[in-house]
Amino acid sequence: MRITIFGSGSGIPEIGKVQTCVGVELDGKMILLDVGEGASSSIAGSGIDVNMIEKIFISHTHADHFIGLPRLLQYFKWRNRTKPIEIYLPAKHIDAVEKFLAFLYIFRDRFDFEYKFLPLPEGEFFAIENLKMKLFPTKHLKKYKKYTELYGIETVSYGYLIEEVTNDGVNLKSFLFSSDLHSVDEVKDYLDGLDLLLIECSHIEIEDIIDVVSDFYIPRIILTHVSPDKDLTTMTEYARAKFDMNIQLAYDGMKIEL
Ligand SMILES: [Zn+2]
Repeated sequence: MRITIFGSGSGIPEIGKVQTCVGVELDGKMILLDVGEGASSSIAGSGIDVNMIEKIFISHTHADHFIGLPRLLQYFKWRNRTKPIEIYLPAKHIDAVEKFLAFLYIFRDRFDFEYKFLPLPEGEFFAIENLKMKLFPTKHLKKYKKYTELYGIETVSYGYLIEEVTNDGVNLKSFLFSSDLHSVDEVKDYLDGLDLLLIECSHIEIEDIIDVVSDFYIPRIILTHVSPDKDLTTMTEYARAKFDMNIQLAYDGMKIEL
């Protein structure tokens, strides 16, 4: 499995950084995890064939994880995409997103490919052949609970747990992308046996990540979604020296082979 970090930026806009978007590729097929602002430019710059993108998952509809979607659909059109695509969103937001696209003059019948919005799947499922996925809930959105009744919005966000398996279901590689968290404890149950942890460092502190992660052996840890107001140099050096942790910062265009 190959992971491409198309967008490593945090919610705070920064020159030269695209917001959250991660591609996971296996056997020539790719899924996207979140599509933040600028994702289409980053994907265009990577030169990939847009037809290889099979499915898109949106962990929550904060703009830095979602607002790149309309531009990405348009980019697909301009690159003559014909293959249908499934886009998974929080169920409660699907109708609003359909309406929003109409106000951006994005209409299905003007596209040569079909796109379908579907609710985020529950439990384990295969995103593509040999790529097993599970979305785990996080409390990142809990501060919006008071708006649920008035606006009918979702207040559960999700992280992504992804496994490459053989045809017989044997695990080959495991990867977790946290998306946005409320607390580092939300990933704790899934850390054992991971080959790669891609974890955000905007809403949680690096000290807490190191504290929790140091109890596990994870061959590679990458910090993404790092606020530009944070300098993580001292703490990453500390983690390397004290725990022999293979810890790095993500950058746009970063590729990881697992
Ligand atoms: Zn975010």
